[in-house]
Amino acid sequence: MFKVETSVKESCHAGVACAYGVVSLPGTKMSVYSFFVDGVLIDTGSPLLLNDYVPVFMKIPIDQVVLTHYHEDHAGGANWIQKHLDIPIYIHESSVQTCSKPFHYPEYRKLAWGQTDSFKARPLPFFFSSKNETWETIHTPGHTKDHVSFYNHDRRTLFSGDLYVLTRTKVIIAEEDITQTMASLRKVLAYDFEEVYCNHAGYLPNGRKRLSDKLRYLEDMEEKIVRLHKSGMDAASINHELFPKQYPITMVSDGEWDSLHIVTSILKQHTAP
Ligand SMILES: [Zn+2]
Repeated sequence: MFKVETSVKESCHAGVACAYGVVSLPGTKMSVYSFFVDGVLIDTGSPLLLNDYVPVFMKIPIDQVVLTHYHEDHAGGANWIQKHLDIPIYIHESSVQTCSKPFHYPEYRKLAWGQTDSFKARPLPFFFSSKNETWETIHTPGHTKDHVSFYNHDRRTLFSGDLYVLTRTKVIIAEEDITQTMASLRKVLAYDFEEVYCNHAGYLPNGRKRLSDKLRYLEDMEEKIVRLHKSGMDAASINHELFPKQYPITMVSDGEWDSLHIVTSILKQHTAP
């Protein structure tokens, strides 16, 4: 059995507590953030991070947990919280059922993040309030169908889950629909904010610009993919042309993460009847 090391680093920006969890495996590192503000915990880290996250959960006065989506690096601590703290856990209504049943996902993700145990979640309301602040749930599908972002009206700040992650996306997970991701980016950009808290990139003071840059990058990619397709190229050739590099995650995940999914999800949209 190889060695897995975990750690959590805490920081704070304008009253938003950030817990940065890192899982180190031989040759690779995975990381994810959880955020805590005004009694609201946004995402719970992964099961493997629990040893490090539990002391954090114990010392912060959590009133409610809201999840950006059901993936193991975001919902992985929810079962522990449910068992040990008497607080509600919310997720988009489309995943309430999913979370109540055993979680099934590929072995490489279990090695990286651990096995998520099921929990009872409540459907997220469109608007909710914490001690002193009001929040809006924005459904931002794309990365997953259930993906949401949280807009804090008092802070004019966006908590974007996995909507952003990075500007120049090269590989996506098979279930991601990149045209929905683009629609979700346009949707959140209609809100008034500058700062973004991203669950993988952390606190982004220039978040609005990062999200706009990502949208432009994807629109440009879409334009290229459609043009190459019209010239007679199939998805595999377009993928080879636009993303010539093979990324290690594609091999490790046996194709669950692949640049090809960017091409196919755009072509699906453009060739649909
Ligand atoms: Zn995810």
